[in-house]
Amino acid sequence: MLERFAPYVESRLRNKIVDSDASHSFVSGRLVRRYLDKYRLMKLRNSVKYSYNNSPFYHELFKKYALKPNDVKSFEDISKIPFTSSDDLKNPERFFAVPETNFVKIFSSSGTTGKPKRIYFTKNDLDRQISGLTTGMNLLYNIHQVDRVRLTYDHGYGMDDWGVRYCLENAIQKLGAIGVITSNHLPADQEFQLLTAYNISMIMGTPSYLHSLSCDMEKLYELSSLNIKKIMVGTEPLPKSIRKKLEKIWNTDVFQGYGLTEMCTSVAGECKEKDGMHLTESDFYAEVIDPKSGDVLEDEEVGEIVFTTLSREGMPLIRYRTHDLGLIISDKCPCGLPFRRIKVKGRTDRMITIGSGDNIYPNAFDGVLFSVPSVIDYQIILDRKNDKDHVTAVVETNTIDDKTKKEIAAAIMKLPEIDNGVRESKTIEKIEIQLVKPHTLDRKSVKAKRVIDNRNLYE
Ligand SMILES: [Zn+2]
Repeated sequence: MLERFAPYVESRLRNKIVDSDASHSFVSGRLVRRYLDKYRLMKLRNSVKYSYNNSPFYHELFKKYALKPNDVKSFEDISKIPFTSSDDLKNPERFFAVPETNFVKIFSSSGTTGKPKRIYFTKNDLDRQISGLTTGMNLLYNIHQVDRVRLTYDHGYGMDDWGVRYCLENAIQKLGAIGVITSNHLPADQEFQLLTAYNISMIMGTPSYLHSLSCDMEKLYELSSLNIKKIMVGTEPLPKSIRKKLEKIWNTDVFQGYGLTEMCTSVAGECKEKDGMHLTESDFYAEVIDPKSGDVLEDEEVGEIVFTTLSREGMPLIRYRTHDLGLIISDKCPCGLPFRRIKVKGRTDRMITIGSGDNIYPNAFDGVLFSVPSVIDYQIILDRKNDKDHVTAVVETNTIDDKTKKEIAAAIMKLPEIDNGVRESKTIEKIEIQLVKPHTLDRKSVKAKRVIDNRNLYE
């Protein structure tokens, strides 16, 4: 019975690509929530059945827990299936649901923590992902034929093919626009020449890279004169202060996306409301769980984000734990899109214990440090001396003087965990500020790693 909704929803999702006011046309195309939910449930059940029948990992897992695909009849029933962890992916071959010769691409990520993960994709998997991305980018950002999009994402580093640039470039091409890439990051003057020569209308990249590039460029040029229509960032959290700064420098809107290699890059993107990222619910089923108990949480509650692929044929993943912390917003978005939104708040595996046992997310430092106007980038180094924590902030700034130093020290003290450690419990011995010139810090990694913990607390 549910099958009859599929062609209807599919056509709304895939073929309603229009040139102007895309989101309005999409909604007036009557893709209403209840049809979308029926479609998602059908796909969820199909994906569970497909995984059981074709993936050795899931076949064994279901057998071990005496589960049958038919045990999943509703969205709630998915909680009967145990989680899949990144450790399980150490042997990707066990997940192969098609003969190995059917794979055409491998994306991998050594990530900021843990061992490299290799995820294999078939041609259909890539087509589906790129198609979802194409629809999303058209709906949310109205990218079309006239656009020239500057893609500053790296291909990857070392052995990693990161996948982000590949998928975005292909989606941009599918929209009839032009994606402009270079093999390396360019110095400020050459980047400016490129933006002008190619008449670039949109820019994509990581927040940390675009922030550092923009700080270099604004010293030389009036960037608002380039009339960049939009900036889209992803792969790292976007601190409010960086968004504000980029929007001011370029005089345009900055939107963020969310994705992960295991899900073939992008899964969500922000609309003009900038209040949560709309999930690609046609291809991914998202849950938020309590990271300790594994219980599924209610909407709006913060927990670990878990994904199930709904369209994957090569390496389907069921209830994959991302280690990202976030929440789901199911209230209808004022923009009119029927897709639920997700907000990402941090990582479960990267929380740092500091001072007298306070837990802090590394990106908390982003919030306070990037609010100081002269800060370009930074690294926090944690050491242990005389049984106390020692915090060193190495900060790239345009101005190197005592006033800036004081400003930065004051900004760090705004973090209650640091303030508590220094003033109350006296478990943090010292905050040392070292100011350095732009481009001093090592940025040789795909994602910015800004907190380095040398304390060996767990050894
Ligand atoms: Zn919206």
